[in-house]
Amino acid sequence: MSNEHVVVIGGSHGAAQLVASLRQEGWTGKISLVSAEPIVPYHRPPLSKTYLAGEQHQDEILIRPANFYEGAEVDLVLGSRVIAINREDKSITLHDGGKISYDKLALTTGAKVRRLALPGDHLQGVLYLRDLGDVDRIRQFTGNGKHAVIIGGGYIGLETAASLKKCGMHVTVLEALPRVLQRVTAPQISEFYMRIHREEGVEVLTGVVAKSINGEGLVESVSCENDLRLKADLVIIGIGVLPETKLAEDAGLEVDNGILVDEFARTSDHDIVAAGDCTNHFNPLYQRRIRLESVQNATDQAKTAAKSLCGKLEPYRALPWFWSDQYDVKLQIAGLSQGYDHVVVRGDWEKGRSFSVFYFLKEKFIAVDAVNRPKEFMLSRRLLAEGRTPDLTRLGDDSIPIQDLLKA
Ligand SMILES: Cc1cc2nc3c(=O)[nH]c(=O)nc-3n(C[C@H](O)[C@H](O)[C@H](O)COP(=O)(O)OP(=O)(O)OC[C@H]3O[C@@H](n4cnc5c(N)ncnc54)[C@H](O)[C@@H]3O)c2cc1C
Repeated sequence: MSNEHVVVIGGSHGAAQLVASLRQEGWTGKISLVSAEPIVPYHRPPLSKTYLAGEQHQDEILIRPANFYEGAEVDLVLGSRVIAINREDKSITLHDGGKISYDKLALTTGAKVRRLALPGDHLQGVLYLRDLGDVDRIRQFTGNGKHAVIIGGGYIGLETAASLKKCGMHVTVLEALPRVLQRVTAPQISEFYMRIHREEGVEVLTGVVAKSINGEGLVESVSCENDLRLKADLVIIGIGVLPETKLAEDAGLEVDNGILVDEFARTSDHDIVAAGDCTNHFNPLYQRRIRLESVQNATDQAKTAAKSLCGKLEPYRALPWFWSDQYDVKLQIAGLSQGYDHVVVRGDWEKGRSFSVFYFLKEKFIAVDAVNRPKEFMLSRRLLAEGRTPDLTRLGDDSIPIQDLLKA
């Protein structure tokens, strides 16, 4: 191991954790981190929250200080896109034609935005939000009293709406489906978010499909299928992401909605591991293959991948969790709610800003969405990881502490 070289492709949560974990696990060989981005890995969640709202600077969102990589003897190759993995001679090719040889390779290539083809989508001021460069571009079109239209009522769209509102903009969110967050939450959570955005002065239009973006050079408005025309100085499209798997596919690795990895984060080539948004893994807690888009998964799976490279095969079986910050509301999610057949709500979701939605499948507790209820989130995380289910007949009574509702 001492003379071997690990090359990590990617420059975000997965990559930052992988290089740190490699050293912690005793990797003594060379480590290189090759990222298309020009700066060291930074936290992505603040991009739609505090960083967009101007409440945090670039230096404050770095995952590790820039000098960490020097201390850990990690060679940084920044601003360099990898265009090919050559498995025959174990090397990668960079966009400028340069080559780097590897003994082991780690893919943390993450995800890329899903693009929306609309007339006028090329206009200045029509943007997506995935990395720091995107926010810096968005900032050129923000300003007190200006109009922003956000296409897509998912977490990123809603967080962006809240942050732009803080910047003094008039904000409209367009969601094609009947409710925001429809694909990922119960109706109570969707209705709650529609209410709080409206209370904060954001216009949320559901069941409305954007038809074209209009302007000459600069964006001026968005036309919708119901003939509505919305003034716009800025349009942000947030309709989800796709796993960045091209390198892996071209190299002949197995890919199916993400790079297929085993429980040790190994790809179909055992000299190549992968972690984070780009992967698809079997989750033993939910007994199915999943692809997650979360900091938790990128970080925890990277730890597993680093261990595997160091010859310590430990299966990845972390409980998925996620969060979203909008205004004074912190949503914390534990588990996966997809496929639920029953929910129990604790607290006043119709008027208040503190409640939890518990999701069940065949009376088994599978997930929670906790709104400003960190204790219920923490306890639920523990229960879910242990496979325990609270007494669902009395769970809705907010006056009974959850601890008193636990089945033996
Ligand atoms: C605005 C925003 C807000 C979010 N908020 C939350 C949140 O609140 N909570 C949460 O849990 N998650 C949140 N997420 C999701 C979370 O940020 C991702 O799940 C996480 O960043 C995944 O990390 P990753 O390392 O797998 O991939 P990514 O963060 O996608 O990083 C991939 C990296 O690989 C690089 N790369 C890709 N291809 C190549 C190549 N060929 N050559 C070189 N480099 C390459 C990219 O440039 C990038 O640096 C948010 C995401 C965004 C965009």
